[in-house]
Amino acid sequence: MNKAVPSNLEQVGPLMNRLPHELLENQEGVLYIDGVSTIELARKFDTPVYVMSERRIRENYRNVREALLRHYDKIRIYCSAKANTSLSVLKILKTEGACIDVVSPGEAFLALNAGFAPKEILFTGTSVRNDELRFLVDSEVTINIDSLSQLRRLLKIHVPSIVSVRVNPEVGAGHHEHCITAGKMSKFGIWEDQVITAYRTAKEAGVKRFGIHMHIGSGILTVEPFLLAAEKMLEIARLVHDEVGITFEFIDFGGGLGVPYRPEEKPLDLENYAEKVLSLYKKRIEEYELGKPWFCIEPGRYIVCDAGVLLTTVNTVKVTPFRKFVGVDAGFNTLIRPAMYGSYHPIVVANRLNEPEKETYDVAGPLCESGDLLARDRSLPEIHEGDLLAVLNAGAYGFSMSSQYNSRPRCAEVMVNNGQYALVREKETFEDLLKGQKIPPWLA
Ligand SMILES: *Cc1c(COP(=O)(O)O)cnc(C)c1O
Repeated sequence: MNKAVPSNLEQVGPLMNRLPHELLENQEGVLYIDGVSTIELARKFDTPVYVMSERRIRENYRNVREALLRHYDKIRIYCSAKANTSLSVLKILKTEGACIDVVSPGEAFLALNAGFAPKEILFTGTSVRNDELRFLVDSEVTINIDSLSQLRRLLKIHVPSIVSVRVNPEVGAGHHEHCITAGKMSKFGIWEDQVITAYRTAKEAGVKRFGIHMHIGSGILTVEPFLLAAEKMLEIARLVHDEVGITFEFIDFGGGLGVPYRPEEKPLDLENYAEKVLSLYKKRIEEYELGKPWFCIEPGRYIVCDAGVLLTTVNTVKVTPFRKFVGVDAGFNTLIRPAMYGSYHPIVVANRLNEPEKETYDVAGPLCESGDLLARDRSLPEIHEGDLLAVLNAGAYGFSMSSQYNSRPRCAEVMVNNGQYALVREKETFEDLLKGQKIPPWLA
């Protein structure tokens, strides 16, 4: 039967390979997520709907933790809340023993609500207001400083026992210009020439414990940028240690661990990352006599990205003289990454996994915006109205970046776990569109 492989099977092979991990399964042509049928979920909760796999979140977290622990025993993982801020996701991370990275007072509030202790929460904000600093001080979370201005304003409000400084290690990287968070053009972090001043100011004000931090960007699939930036930051740590005479309790290398989205992208080699970054770390902390600080990272995308799927129903199939459009019920109000970053998300037809790719479609949302496309030129099986599409790798920066644009209420979120499922966020209603709105008295 070697030669006579039917052409549809040849095409089915790569299609099924696109399911990024074993918790996404093809059961008789239907996509299942950890034992739960996506068709059943769509019927029960309507679409669009985000579906998160609890087991996958735990697996991803444990893989990172175990990879790091193989090389160093004082590690701390601050999972980045902004990738997925759902309370249930935060609770899962809490039960794994994770710490949490927050970038706003609202995220700190949610993390506290999910059960994180203040000392397990690291706040890294930029352009922070005084009342926000006050809230963070009152909440007793650890504050990571982004500017001398922020530090001076913080010290006037309160002198915390511990302070960390976000440095700009001059090396940035990321999957898109908007996702590079260090280097010459970046608004983030404090440059080397002001770092000494920052720590000296904090020390003189009475701060006793210190951390140092960087976060160079997002969606990084190779180890080199992490190594370059780590080398630079460790040099800065030495400089601060020698000049200001402080010992770091932790050194935080930020997030940015990438996940492949496009079929041709190779996953980040986690073991290689851990080995290379930690061997550099161990070598330098010894050489620079920095003691034995906690080694910290802040993965966001890596933990939740492939644990999430966005289900969306086909409303329309429209053929123009130039394009074939599949009109679905999720647009950039629901998933903004394709419109905002030109990101690629794998898409499968959740109710036709066994059918061969036949046509090239543009997958378009319901918004009145030409940029409202989830995909261009995507090879898919022949699509019919009512089909269910699954947008994969949607667990990071999916729901958390969603909006009500075009006055579309935000969608629901569901958690699945080993054959069970539960609604974890209700879909919004029209009433939510009215929430907080007031008519001025002269119009009433
Ligand atoms: C966004 C962010 C992260 C997480 O980035 P990922 O690319 O999702 O890993 C970590 N730290 C800080 C300070 C961030 O702003």
